[in-house]
Amino acid sequence: MKRYSAFAIAREALRHHTGWERAWASPAPRKRYKVIIVGAGGHGLATAYYLGKNHGITDVAVIEKGWLGGGNTGRNTTIIRSNYLQDPSAAIYEKARALYEDLSQDLNYNVMFSPRGVMMLAQTEHEVRGYLRTAHANALQGVETEFVGPDRVKELCPIINIEGPRYPVLGALWQPRGGTARHDAVAWGYARACSAMGMHIIQQCEVTGVRSEGGRVTGVETTKGEIGCDSLGIVVAGHSGVLAEMAGFRLPIESVALQALVSEPIKPCMDVVVMANTVHGYMSQSDKGEMVIGGGADGYNNYTQRGSFHHIEETVRALVETFPMISRLKMLRQWGGIVDMTGDRSPIISPTPLGGCYINCGWGTGGFKAIPGSGWAMADMIAKGAPGPLCADFGLDRFRAGRFIDESVAAGVAH
Ligand SMILES: Cc1cc2nc3c(=O)[nH]c(=O)nc-3n(C[C@H](O)[C@H](O)[C@H](O)COP(=O)(O)OP(=O)(O)OC[C@H]3O[C@@H](n4cnc5c(N)ncnc54)[C@H](O)[C@@H]3O)c2cc1C
Repeated sequence: MKRYSAFAIAREALRHHTGWERAWASPAPRKRYKVIIVGAGGHGLATAYYLGKNHGITDVAVIEKGWLGGGNTGRNTTIIRSNYLQDPSAAIYEKARALYEDLSQDLNYNVMFSPRGVMMLAQTEHEVRGYLRTAHANALQGVETEFVGPDRVKELCPIINIEGPRYPVLGALWQPRGGTARHDAVAWGYARACSAMGMHIIQQCEVTGVRSEGGRVTGVETTKGEIGCDSLGIVVAGHSGVLAEMAGFRLPIESVALQALVSEPIKPCMDVVVMANTVHGYMSQSDKGEMVIGGGADGYNNYTQRGSFHHIEETVRALVETFPMISRLKMLRQWGGIVDMTGDRSPIISPTPLGGCYINCGWGTGGFKAIPGSGWAMADMIAKGAPGPLCADFGLDRFRAGRFIDESVAAGVAH
């Protein structure tokens, strides 16, 4: 695979762009692979990438029922931060955030990581205390955050109305190296790097069954035939329960639609990411100028990958209190993805009751930010057959043992 570089752009400009290679191959599936990953979202592709890069395992197929990155990875609002409360969460989210810093160089693909800073507004006394607690926890965890007052909030984001009307801004939890990245590029960059290592990314191929013998996985049934494997990684977000059932176990997961919308593009007016948990909404400005606005999850379980009008209304109504200027904007598009929610709002990265079968799910409304760290941990677990330090606490058994990793505050608004 030829490297992307300034020299390559100049060369291709001179020959009318006839020399670019396809970014990834689309091969027919082989009969067998050492490892099969189900789901070519960010987490599945990152798992495959780190299996090759960190463990030298390249006999890997990533099987995707639609197109790669077409699930939640291509539908999220791209916020990256690691200001979680509990130690295991801070460790894996900070690992991911740190990997994002160099991801473009590592993948030789511009993922447009923009560490523009993320703030979570405190609009009640209760939130002030909660975020002070998180800032102290983050200091002990080595995650760079600070609690800032309303004046600093206004300085960082002049379009915020810090005076109310219902909820004045009392401060914010500020993570200066949080930010955003281009979500499609993350999937495409990983896919290209996996393909360059000789891995197979098989799109338009749905896994319809899991085969096993003597309590151990032997392969999968797909719409393109049976494919054998030694190890299986299930990384399918909102469809995790469906795949788990095929593999013969149950998950403590609920699947719900989560929605977002964007406005018409406007001139640059906001160069940080802001979350307002009390009114429930969050916003950033894309490079195109659109205001990217995140809404809530549906209050009932479903598999519908689309938006609904009452969500636009509720979300925009909530945000107008804090950002009055958006009342003048036209909204352009709205969409939904199916997210996989656990009771403690923390992920599951775990071996399963089926030997050789591993699962990575439960990222719910906030897994985009975790993609590199999650892929790193999942690859390590598949390669070694047991969870490593980054994911040991995120096992399935925690629900039986009552060792919850409660992140319901950090994940309170969907981002
Ligand atoms: C509207 C919205 C906003 C969000 N905002 C943020 C945010 O700002 N920051 C953040 O960190 N996170 C955010 N998230 C969450 C984030 O998008 C997800 O946690 C993350 O993308 C999950 O990635 P994934 O790779 O696990 O899943 P996905 O990207 O959904 O990939 C799973 C893939 O599995 C495939 N699949 C399913 N079943 C099968 C099958 N039987 N056979 C083969 N393939 C199958 C699917 O087609 C899909 O492509 C948001 C989500 C949504 C929906």
